[in-house]
Amino acid sequence: MTSPAATPPDPSARGPHASEPAAPESADRASFGYRDVPAAEKAGMVARVFESVAPRYDLMNDLMSGGVHRLWKNALVDLLNPRPGERFLDVAGGTGDIAFRIVRRLAARGEERTDVTVCDINPAMLAVGRDRAVDRGLVKGITWTAGDAEALPFPDRSFDAYTIAFGLRNVTDIDKALREAHRVLRPGGRFYCLEFSRVTSAPVGRVYDAYSSRALPLLGRVIARDPESYRYLHESIRRFPPQRELARRMGEAGFANIAWRDMTLGVVALHSGWRV
Ligand code: SAM
Repeated sequence: MTSPAATPPDPSARGPHASEPAAPESADRASFGYRDVPAAEKAGMVARVFESVAPRYDLMNDLMSGGVHRLWKNALVDLLNPRPGERFLDVAGGTGDIAFRIVRRLAARGEERTDVTVCDINPAMLAVGRDRAVDRGLVKGITWTAGDAEALPFPDRSFDAYTIAFGLRNVTDIDKALREAHRVLRPGGRFYCLEFSRVTSAPVGRVYDAYSSRALPLLGRVIARDPESYRYLHESIRRFPPQRELARRMGEAGFANIAWRDMTLGVVALHSGWRV
């Protein structure tokens, strides 16, 4: 389903669950899962989560989603429809799943010259990504850069397309990250955000909620030996703005032609927009 964004803000913006604490109201506070923390401390706390999970991140993704994250990521790259000669930026690119798909998609079209930049705040995730690139023989055409989505280390108008998959909910100031995405895209450039969102069916939502609040920390305990990081994952999903609110905030950052597509009944949403 693709939905236009030019509709009123979603009243469920604070989350549909009575048990869910409200998001912090002041600019110097941020949510770290369900905790309200000083905004200046959130990035360090998120960094520790991903440093801890980096070695088992890819295995955990497959286990937690039953492999479905691969389909969601394929859908993103289908919509992106990479074309030869374009410059791609994958922010919060972690261990490279989106970058590898872009390179492979271009290679399938006979295009060997690729220009994909993976930018992530966490060197541990980037290191795993580089190793995977070597293992897959995908060394050429991908640049790995440490950087913050809120202050990207790139000039204005330097990319044709910007992707962010399961990254935006981790940044401290989502609006700042959206403005940065807009800044680094050339006019006409495309923005794509794949992120956990709000389930659109109440019964499925209850099952999903029970799964993510109990099974994720359990898997985190058994496989990654880190239940707290996976509790953060569950809580950060619940705190992320729902579909319509994210679309509205993309509009405020300057994007046009905003649309989104729910996948797996809204477990994940794929938002897109153009830089004007
Ligand atoms: N995009 C990859 C994927 O889909 O598999 C990785 C997603 S992982 C759930 C989230 C990533 O966001 C982590 O690699 C983390 O280091 C990164 N991250 C968190 N905060 C960030 C920020 N402010 N700027 C850039 N990357 C950030």
